[in-house]
Amino acid sequence: MPDTAKTPASIDFIDLGAQRRRLGARVDEAILRVVDHGKYILGPEVAELERKLAQFCGAKHCIGVANGTDALLLGLMAKGVGAGDAVLVPSFTFAATAEVVALVGATPVFVDVQEDSFNMDAASLEAGIAAAKKAGLKPVSVIAVDLFGQPADYDAIENVARRHGLWLMADAAQSFGASYRGRKVGSIGDIVTTSFFPAKPLGCYGDGGAIFTDDDEIARIIRSLRVHGQGSDKYDNVRIGVNGRLDTIQAAVLLQKLEIFEDEIEARQRVADRYNQRLGNIARVPRLMPGTTSVWAQYTLVTDQRDRVIASCKAAGVPTAIYYPLPLSQQTAYRRYPQPDAGVPVSERLAKQVVSLPMHPYLDEPTQARVCDAVRAALG
Ligand SMILES: *Cc1c(COP(=O)(O)O)cnc(C)c1O
Repeated sequence: MPDTAKTPASIDFIDLGAQRRRLGARVDEAILRVVDHGKYILGPEVAELERKLAQFCGAKHCIGVANGTDALLLGLMAKGVGAGDAVLVPSFTFAATAEVVALVGATPVFVDVQEDSFNMDAASLEAGIAAAKKAGLKPVSVIAVDLFGQPADYDAIENVARRHGLWLMADAAQSFGASYRGRKVGSIGDIVTTSFFPAKPLGCYGDGGAIFTDDDEIARIIRSLRVHGQGSDKYDNVRIGVNGRLDTIQAAVLLQKLEIFEDEIEARQRVADRYNQRLGNIARVPRLMPGTTSVWAQYTLVTDQRDRVIASCKAAGVPTAIYYPLPLSQQTAYRRYPQPDAGVPVSERLAKQVVSLPMHPYLDEPTQARVCDAVRAALG
């Protein structure tokens, strides 16, 4: 802590300390209970959390897993996706979405996103399916991503997926808690995955993730896969699996955080509203599609003056971040994979224009005013 009154307090991009102060000793006590009862692997807190998360979003099954990437991987493994299969993914996303497809031996096919929502464009999905077929692949699945906390356009995506016989996985790493036309994230898609990485809207104190599905058989397979393909007992292995369990201590942390999650989502919306109000006339602020809510994992501006915004914020002690500076289809590891004939021009353009501002439920008005002043100084 700076000790001079004149130094402005540094601004956190995501202030996890404020949440710790609010929760008080509750999380620490929950952790200590696990340390004492000793059921560190798949202890009672994991089952309790799975029950509460399923209830929260209206899914039939929830399976706690080690992280959001394993959640995606286990979803593909449970469905038997492999060599010769194509999985359609947006190009403008975090690497994990496409990485898991390549890891199971299938081919990620990149499709473009919508300018307004940053999420998968159903028309480009259609073109991506054609590109996959042209490359001699069998399109089997689509992974939609709810970027920055807003659900993808599931009606349009489900419509294309259904017509082509693809099953749908929702990468809801950034959007757990959001909703789409009356449906809660977690209940949309054949398999839904999320992440509890500390910086996500519902984060734990390390790595964690979860999978949601209404399909009894898929849930049963995923429960087996997350423990080395376990069968009727520990040393009966009926399929090739992984060690992909959610830690009991992380489940205990999440149970406490879940208690205040709804309230935090409302606080995030208030922060987003204030940004919209103060920056809407000088930059392109995020737009929610009709009927959707966001949990605002990020608050992202689109501007062709990005360098100016970042420099002005830096000078004012305001942290910024770029999610994502390069679409996956332009990354070294992913360049060789197919994309639609028309390419993914929106993803490529957004990667040059996006900049994310501090966003968390405890961002107070004076601090937010400082952020807005710094942005306005660059663009106003
Ligand atoms: C964070 C994230 C993941 C991966 O989650 P981890 O828990 O870090 O493995 C996957 N997809 C998206 C879109 C993410 O933002």
